[in-house]
Amino acid sequence: MSKNLTKREVDYSKWYNELVVKADLAENSAVRGCMVIKPYGFAIWEKMQAELDRMFKETGHENAYFPLLVPKSLFEAEEKNAEGFAKECAVVTHYRLQNDPNNEGKLRVDPAAKLEEELVIRPTSEAIIWNTYKGWIQSYRDLPLLINQWANVMRWEMRTRLFLRTAEFLWQEGHTAHATKKEALVEARQMQDVYAEFAENYMAMPVIKGAKSESERFAGADETYTIEALMQDGKALQAGTSHFLGQNFAKAFDVKYTSKEGKQEFVWATSWGVSTRLIGGLIMTHSDDLGLVLPPKLAPIQVVIVPIYKGEEQLEAISDKVNVFVKELRKKGISVKFDTRDTYRPGAKFAEYELKGVPVRIAIGKRDLENNTVEVARRDTLEKQSVSQDDVVDVVANLLEEIQDNLFNKAISYRKEHTTEVNSFEEFKEAIKNVGGFVSAHWDGTIETEDKIKELTKATIRCIPLDNKLEEGKCILTGKKSTQRVLFAKAY
Ligand code: AMP
Repeated sequence: MSKNLTKREVDYSKWYNELVVKADLAENSAVRGCMVIKPYGFAIWEKMQAELDRMFKETGHENAYFPLLVPKSLFEAEEKNAEGFAKECAVVTHYRLQNDPNNEGKLRVDPAAKLEEELVIRPTSEAIIWNTYKGWIQSYRDLPLLINQWANVMRWEMRTRLFLRTAEFLWQEGHTAHATKKEALVEARQMQDVYAEFAENYMAMPVIKGAKSESERFAGADETYTIEALMQDGKALQAGTSHFLGQNFAKAFDVKYTSKEGKQEFVWATSWGVSTRLIGGLIMTHSDDLGLVLPPKLAPIQVVIVPIYKGEEQLEAISDKVNVFVKELRKKGISVKFDTRDTYRPGAKFAEYELKGVPVRIAIGKRDLENNTVEVARRDTLEKQSVSQDDVVDVVANLLEEIQDNLFNKAISYRKEHTTEVNSFEEFKEAIKNVGGFVSAHWDGTIETEDKIKELTKATIRCIPLDNKLEEGKCILTGKKSTQRVLFAKAY
């Protein structure tokens, strides 16, 4: 494989696939649609997990763990959810293998070891969790129940892409139970806000908060809230979803509580999730033709130091200087790698860390020793500056904040330039084709019109923005009356 990446403007999708592999984030595996997440990619996921987990706990949630396998009778209890996921389910039917009498050296399933009840590999865990909640919830004192699980799930996706859409993926799923509809709605909206804050403040990825149209709603939900991001190729990415489940699961699993007044009431529910898809979003928001560009808050290595030296003696002199400010940087909570490997030349190291998106690179050579300087380079703009060794800690700390802000502002500008308001179907088609990005348009509110627009343009309704202003208008396709604009885009 060549060292250089395909340029984004030549083939964006090829660029993405090459980057994921060359930057050592993940690779395809022997299992169809399932990826191996490599240590560098997993380190980014761990950083994401740590921040999200902290935010979930700050909003009162606790972690728990439920089984991977869901008995089919439980899976089918909430009909809409079961129907929505049925086509993507892997199912366990047997519990034993045996030697194949007709094929020496091979194994086959033991026909005598057929399960009495088939087990569905969870595509999402509402069923097993609500079946459990039945035993946990009796009275209003047991509510709210605020649980999160970090887990893997499996959806037999037909067209898979590393991180963005895989058959098995890692995620978290929150599942909460409440006494009132109002409280459950507040919870679903709160978790959408948590996701938006994480996307914007940590991933430096601007998102639009909205509600899904009926046809894009989670199977079994009364309302789905989403955060939608815009990728560099003009396609939208659903980055996270939070569902108001009404009493649908409580009714399916007969989960009732005794109210203060002594009445039996069904419980109200929410569920919400983000997945390893976020890593795909992170890549496609910031990275460039040289490789990854990581926002400092999620970069496994924030600062790399590359010594440029001839012979042991020079390396020792450089190390003496470097060790002083490495200690200072670490004291400030900055993650630093001092790369003293003598098996790679400095040029190769520079290229490697550019590919891996390390936000700040410090180089230090013989001349720097004489001048008491270092060279500081930032990954986002590729700018370099010479800095006194006495100032390097403060300069780097400020630079990391500046890079984080710059990435967010750049992404916001991109989104502004790629959001178009249109008032006719001609304008709509043109915007989808020529500009890409989000197109804001009136829609008559029907599934038929939504389907027709998708068929004609491949664009779907990404969301009905929460901050929408009511506005009289006419549907771009049917001319029927509409009261608000919705956001369309082609999406991943
Ligand atoms: P859902 O339970 O369908 O609302 O999914 C929760 C979140 O998981 C979605 O908002 C996506 O960001 C993500 N997701 C859904 N399907 C996949 C998949 N096949 N691979 C990776 N992430 C996914």
